[in-house]
Amino acid sequence: MAENAKRAFVIGHPIAHSRSPKIHGHWLKSYGLAGSYEAIDVAPGDLAGFIAALRENGFRGGNVTIPHKEAVFELVDRIDPAAERIGAVNTLWFEDGRLWGGNTDAHGFAANLDEHAPGWAANGPAVVLGAGGAARAIIYALKERGVRDIRILNRTLERAGDLRDRFGEGISAHRLEAAGELLADAGLLVNTTALGMHGNEGLPADPAALPDKAIVTDIVYVPLETPLLAAARARGLACVDGLGMLLHQAVPGFERWFGKRPAVTAELRDLVLADLGVAA
Ligand code: NAP
Repeated sequence: MAENAKRAFVIGHPIAHSRSPKIHGHWLKSYGLAGSYEAIDVAPGDLAGFIAALRENGFRGGNVTIPHKEAVFELVDRIDPAAERIGAVNTLWFEDGRLWGGNTDAHGFAANLDEHAPGWAANGPAVVLGAGGAARAIIYALKERGVRDIRILNRTLERAGDLRDRFGEGISAHRLEAAGELLADAGLLVNTTALGMHGNEGLPADPAALPDKAIVTDIVYVPLETPLLAAARARGLACVDGLGMLLHQAVPGFERWFGKRPAVTAELRDLVLADLGVAA
């Protein structure tokens, strides 16, 4: 590799499951850029040392995944507004001599819907199933895009209440069982629960209760067609799968480290699907 090649990374513990090297590696190759993107297993006890040595190791920045998304808050110089509100950092970069921590999951979620269901943000109330880490990014995106009525439904009501308190105005918290009546006038249904993943088959809510105009999206992407999306499709509703969120969240980081805004293409999607062993 050329001496001035740009370096980026994804750190986590474990890290072998990460699809990020496939995504960034594809972009580096297709744009003919001299650079690398490496998956590095960093144990929690080694995180501070790794971050402190970024510059001397020639890194432009990188991605951060479990279990480091909160711990890096203490190790960066600046936090972007998304990471601040979401409470998790997934992207690091240098800017004006300082190390920044940001969060691109909300961008990934909104960009995926922009691509596959334009106008989604003006379609009416949004129902978010789940109140975990991913739900925080989605609620941030919904608020940023001007959705005024956001209904969080969760198996554990208290966690939905915590998110309502965190994000404030326009948000209500409910149990999953309340879905029926809350779906009747909804314009967007988002599943962020782990229900529907391989090994956790099930329907977090029945899309039969939605109006005809509703858009349904599931951020679970293994399988690509989750039971929720299959039921929504059978009901004739517009559906958006979760793979695009994963691909689009990678765009801002790549641009920061390598200086080129990359495109999310069908070729990239097929590559990641093949890597996941998921049928398109
Ligand atoms: P998390 O913080 O562990 O939250 C899990 C959520 O699922 C909680 O709301 C939990 O409810 C709910 N849940 C789990 N099992 C359930 C069950 N049997 N019945 C009802 N609710 C159940 O996880 P996360 O980080 O938010 O991730 C959630 C999913 O999103 C994962 O499948 C992840 O792979 C996916 N994801 C996708 C993307 C993407 O780019 N497409 C990005 C991030 C995450 P309780 O609060 O009651 O436990």
